[in-house]
Amino acid sequence: MADSRDPFLAELERRGVSRRGFLGFCGTMATVLALPRSVGAQIAEAIETQEKPTLVWLEFQDCAGNSEAFLRAGRPTTADIILDTLSVDYHETIMAAAGHRAEENLDRVVREKAGGYIAVVEGSIPTGANGAYCTIGGRSALDIARRVCGGAAATIAIGTCATFGGLPAAAPNPTGALSVADAVPGVKNLINLPACPANAENLVAVVVYYLTFGRFPALDRYRRPMFAYGKSIHDNCERRAHYDAGQYVENWGDEGHRLGYCLYKMGCKGPVCYQNCPNVGWNESTNWPIGCGHPCIGCAEPDFWDKMTPFYSHVAGFPGFGLHSNVDRVGLLATAGVAAAFAAHGFVQLGKRWMSSGKHSEATEASAEQKGETS
Ligand code: SF4
Ligand code: SF4
Repeated sequence: MADSRDPFLAELERRGVSRRGFLGFCGTMATVLALPRSVGAQIAEAIETQEKPTLVWLEFQDCAGNSEAFLRAGRPTTADIILDTLSVDYHETIMAAAGHRAEENLDRVVREKAGGYIAVVEGSIPTGANGAYCTIGGRSALDIARRVCGGAAATIAIGTCATFGGLPAAAPNPTGALSVADAVPGVKNLINLPACPANAENLVAVVVYYLTFGRFPALDRYRRPMFAYGKSIHDNCERRAHYDAGQYVENWGDEGHRLGYCLYKMGCKGPVCYQNCPNVGWNESTNWPIGCGHPCIGCAEPDFWDKMTPFYSHVAGFPGFGLHSNVDRVGLLATAGVAAAFAAHGFVQLGKRWMSSGKHSEATEASAEQKGETS
């Protein structure tokens, strides 16, 4: 007998996700999107009822880390199921079709769904040697990106290679690698999701936002969604209190490291890197790099391979960062401020002990005598 329930809810149930679990996920998505948790009900309705968009996933000059992150689930989660229910008509790494059959799928989407599909681009686009460094089905990555992104309703550049050029574009950039924005200028509704790799939760959140509101979320000057890249790692870091208190790890494995002190002196780029890692976490929120005791290496920022290295040192020359930068001064001032506060607190405690010992009245009387105030 045919299953008359909503196909999406039936799929959730088949994979062991309860309705309560689904609603919890929608509330969490609202939180990730920096919306009131009550918007979760609206998100749930949209996910259940909206037709899922067709998505084509192009992969160019990269390590496939973003595809890995996309496919990462150790157990099926609601997010995976939502991504699974998207109509992914072309994805070189996971599709069963190969050769001409696969390329025909891509051509069909571009032809028949012009202006109505979402293109996801992973990897940078090499432009040297007329694009010969990366060709698929006899066409260069540059030609494919122009044709596919040119006809898409929106393009999501995923990972730092697609958004900023990444490792392939690091000096000396032998292949002339460019980001999507630079290789295909003027592409409609371009959304950048940088990081190495991008967090799949943020990709799901963009799709959920689109399904719920029929438009894409607000972007910053690098075309990154504000909900995910609006605050620095440093703003929300769980070690921030140690930074403010001037408590730093000085060497790997020292007492400060064991106590979870701030990693700034070990080269942490959290003060100049913007992403929601502290809030969203990685691997189903199991943990995140700084939570594991490793500094942020700034993977979500432009040119991070060139500008954020060496990873375990302060880097001079990066705007707002490096020795004698504002951040260092803030750290020093914060440390000085804390020291002053401790000193003041110490004086207060000393004063209290002093008063309770009776020396206060002796000293007050002596002082009054000197001023001729005693009768
Ligand atoms: S410097 Fe790094 S470890 Fe320290 S508080 Fe900032 S982000 Fe966290
Ligand atoms: S903590 Fe920093 S380096 Fe690590 S994933 Fe987040 S943005 Fe990238």
